[in-house]
Amino acid sequence: MHLNFPTAGPITGWPVLSITTERDAAYRAIAASLPDMVVTVFDEELTVRIVEGGGLVAALPGAAYEGRPVAELLDPACREDVLKRYRLALAGGRSEFAYASAATGRQYGVTVCPLDTGPSGERLGLAVWHDVTERNEVHRRLQHLADHDALTGLLNRRRFEQEVEHHLTLCRRYGARGAVLLIDVDHFKYVNDTLGHSAGDELIIQIADALHSRLRESDLLARLGGDEFAVLLPQVDEAGAQLVARSLVEDLRGYARAHRDGPLRPVTASIGVAVVGAGRLSADELMTQADLAMYDAKEAGRDQHAVYRDEDVHGAAEPTGGIRTRLRWLDMVQAALDEDRFVLHGQPIVDLATGRTHGHELLLRMLGDDEQLIPPNAFLPVAERFGLIPAVDRWVIDKAIGLAADQGSRFSINLSAKSLSQPDLVTFIADHIGAAGVDPSVLTFEITETAAMTNIALARTFAEGLHDLGCRLSLDDFGAGFGTFSYLKHLPFDEVKIDGEFVSGCTHSSFDQMVIDAVVRMAAALGKTTVAEFTRDRETAELLRGAGVTYAQGFYLGRPGPLPADDAITVHTLKQ
Ligand code: GH3
Ligand code: MG
Repeated sequence: MHLNFPTAGPITGWPVLSITTERDAAYRAIAASLPDMVVTVFDEELTVRIVEGGGLVAALPGAAYEGRPVAELLDPACREDVLKRYRLALAGGRSEFAYASAATGRQYGVTVCPLDTGPSGERLGLAVWHDVTERNEVHRRLQHLADHDALTGLLNRRRFEQEVEHHLTLCRRYGARGAVLLIDVDHFKYVNDTLGHSAGDELIIQIADALHSRLRESDLLARLGGDEFAVLLPQVDEAGAQLVARSLVEDLRGYARAHRDGPLRPVTASIGVAVVGAGRLSADELMTQADLAMYDAKEAGRDQHAVYRDEDVHGAAEPTGGIRTRLRWLDMVQAALDEDRFVLHGQPIVDLATGRTHGHELLLRMLGDDEQLIPPNAFLPVAERFGLIPAVDRWVIDKAIGLAADQGSRFSINLSAKSLSQPDLVTFIADHIGAAGVDPSVLTFEITETAAMTNIALARTFAEGLHDLGCRLSLDDFGAGFGTFSYLKHLPFDEVKIDGEFVSGCTHSSFDQMVIDAVVRMAAALGKTTVAEFTRDRETAELLRGAGVTYAQGFYLGRPGPLPADDAITVHTLKQ
């Protein structure tokens, strides 16, 4: 498009605009630097006087419209509307509007305003067309990313919760109904572990498609994360919600297959149903109800649905079902946090070369009402599921740092997968280490390989943060997952804890011995230490030492128990 500002001297038939040559040059430079702008000057006849800028409003280059009616630049469908704004500008008004051109397929932000009156007194207007197609596209993509799950393209948890909240507002105002279904794939870890993470991803996509094809247009489907999906059924009662849940369970059973090339295992899912009732619930509360019901379905054998009912929790005289039990556990964990009713036990980790206790793995117990110690498998899964685990992990970290300060011993601390995603956890650890004046290298944080695998980017950020502090990182249950070695590339770990599955029977299994050997050699080559858990007898300890494993723990070397008051060193004579 060439520049066509009038300079000195009249242009045939048109009055002269009062633009000096210097200004003209400046305008040309401005126009040239704005490739996504089109600036037009128009007159009272709604004729285009000048077109400038590198953009394109209509099909032809801008200059081709000079001397022609403005209307020719505009799509017929919205022509009248836009012309009204041009007339408004000639009358002294300014307007801004969005315009999508059918001719160019592009989107514009348009500003139309009056221009200084020309020397002969006629009124002129200025229209600035700003091509915002790319900007809108970037905005649209960002919006989409913020609202959708990257793997399946379904709504994500955040957006789903917003939609449920909105629906609940409508329910309160208009007495509408509805239900939330929470769907969790059964034994999904098995698919990851046996076929690999990418096969797991593919299965998640297949399940998303299966669910999508089964639901109605008005139903809202989301992936909450991992192998968990949720559906908002806006217009159902309990019977309707159950009908949908039942048919989804049946459909999934028949539809999804683990892998096209792999063994055709049927895939099943468990569904929790929570129906919008008369009470004032938040989206969060409704989803927790669905979650509790989903757990019921899991406990009842999976591959089925269960409905949340208030009376299961509040009404019946006798405790009924798993929901109430889980709520009771949740209350107990919360009370234990509030009242400091957790206890840390330790299991010795022994240096196989010297037989000396190197440190302790800290193991959590809860003090029950009767002062009995409750093992973690009774309460940790519920705490993990219902969001209390980060608080529990922080309790452990706080106490562990206190113990390290008091005793000067080394401690290994287990962290849950959920804690890894807490952006301020490293700061929390740093603050506590700083306040206690503890040597950070005596603290080893153990994260399971599966947790690291679930979100390698988060695990890496966390691991790097820990390293910067000077703490050590151990990859727990190493070998339990799939694709193990490739994940090691991405994490700055210091220690590998060989999964007990390869240790407990290693004296009778040449396969297990080969795995131990491979891990030890790899760790040694990378300059990392190894730990073997589940060392049950002397034979195993000897074998591990012979294989070059650095440290070991297990019943033979020391059962979990109260921590020694001082750093009493036990020497294990492995050879007699
Ligand atoms: P359950 O029957 O009790 O549901 O057992 P499960 O094996 O399905 O276990 P759970 O639902 O608790 O855990 C789901 C697993 O999904 C945990 C994690 O390893 C894995 N996972 C989470 N996100 C992803 C992902 O994006 N892709 C893949 N492939 N796996 C994921
Ligand atoms: Mg699952």
